[in-house]
Amino acid sequence: NPFTYAPAPESRAIVDIAPSYGLFIDGEFTESSGQEMVKTVSPATEEVLAEYTQGTGEDVDRAVRAARKAFSTWSALPGAERAKYLFRIARIIQERSRELAVLETLDNGKPIRETRDADLPLVAAHFFYYAGWADKLGHAGFGPNPRPLGVAGQVIPWNFPLLMLAWKIAPALAAGNTVVLKPAETTPLSALFFADICRQAGLPKGVVNIVTGDGRTGEALVTHPGIDKVAFTGSTAVGKAIARQVAGTGKRLTLELGGKGANIVFDDAPIDQAVEGIVTGIFFNQGQVCCAGSRLLVQESIQDELLDALKRRLATLRLGDPLDKNTDIGAINSAEQLARITALARTGEAEGAERWSAPCELPSSGFWFPPTLFTGVTQAHTVARDEIFGPVLSVLSFRTPDEAVAKANNSQYGLSAGIWTEKGSRILAVANKLRAGVVWANTFNKFDPTSPFGGYKESGFGREGGRHGLEAYLDV
Ligand code: NAD
Repeated sequence: NPFTYAPAPESRAIVDIAPSYGLFIDGEFTESSGQEMVKTVSPATEEVLAEYTQGTGEDVDRAVRAARKAFSTWSALPGAERAKYLFRIARIIQERSRELAVLETLDNGKPIRETRDADLPLVAAHFFYYAGWADKLGHAGFGPNPRPLGVAGQVIPWNFPLLMLAWKIAPALAAGNTVVLKPAETTPLSALFFADICRQAGLPKGVVNIVTGDGRTGEALVTHPGIDKVAFTGSTAVGKAIARQVAGTGKRLTLELGGKGANIVFDDAPIDQAVEGIVTGIFFNQGQVCCAGSRLLVQESIQDELLDALKRRLATLRLGDPLDKNTDIGAINSAEQLARITALARTGEAEGAERWSAPCELPSSGFWFPPTLFTGVTQAHTVARDEIFGPVLSVLSFRTPDEAVAKANNSQYGLSAGIWTEKGSRILAVANKLRAGVVWANTFNKFDPTSPFGGYKESGFGREGGRHGLEAYLDV
């Protein structure tokens, strides 16, 4: 991977976290109009990492005004000039990727191998990719003179804090918009470090503003009349509430919401490769992935063989210190998320599905959940329908390709799916019948900035990534 940079960043000492953070507004870290400070903790140890500011409605207003003021000059810059800033940001991210990987692992709990080899390379790749578009907007098939929308209000979740920021900020800026972004309450630190990177890159004041806080801050942002476009990634429940709030205001809206992805394994699939894909599909980032392959649909004739191989593989996964580069399974992001996963797993047992958890010792502090399978699952089970957003896989079986498609599509969600088979013709036939924004074939959880990403049904609407991701930030 050309974007992979540093070999071994697993030392906590390379990150300099301040005890307390203000809000990044108009190019400066500033104090809030309110008094409330919030602690962010390491989910692996419960150690307090830093305090940050609970942004108020007044703070949001100040940030939106700064972004509005910056919009007139930023949008008037030639695309090639905006590109220079984005290229500079991309290069600084590469240069600081060891530090940012460790920071993200500390604040989120995910294994350093993932932040180092997946999150950070993809963050840099997104900025490089959209930098390349900034001077080509008139040649992107949107007509000769596409225009930016104005100020974007962007709200992101905690599962890929810096990557979700990149998905939001890179296309917005390339298209000539300015932004106010609110990171999630449990993972504010990488966005605050990104603010510092904006300064380091000499980005004009007010083009990027970071307002930390919880759902109240997010609501103040998406309902602010000075926002022209709302981009939200998070839960379906909050997404629906935002859709109602934005309705009729003339603001543009994209929603990237939950999922319950089906990973479909046919009897001719290479079993070992499929097992690795299933593991990546549901245990990458402890399953806290919107497009996780959280439902395994396996053809009946190979079910026993596949489950035996899968259990053997799960018994080898190493759970523990996320900063250890040999760790496969890190911590769950928060006590609340752990409680949600635990409650849904209990429901699975109560409804009669059979639970199997990998034999591993859980650390005594922090938030942990072992890799877990539910077998004997039917469509009626809660664990087959609800997004668990944790390391829990629900196993269902099927006999024919048509039955596999029907079961995969029997979901309120439609974000992702996977197909495992030797037959290319089957891949195409099945993929075309799946109502899912992304379908992977003989692989899973592969991302690329050139590909549009987004959902069907209650997984949301609009696309991020690729040329389509630009369109969401342009009037054409
Ligand atoms: P969440 O909806 O609870 O929170 C997401 C963000 O919204 C946070 O920053 C939060 O502070 C903010 N927020 C909460 N209430 C708000 C309100 N009323 N108005 C405005 N903002 C508000 O979700 P979460 O628990 O942080 O993230 C997990 C969810 O995100 C999962 O459902 C997952 O599937 C989804 N997700 C989707 C994608 C995707 O691309 N489709 C990517 C990652 C995560």
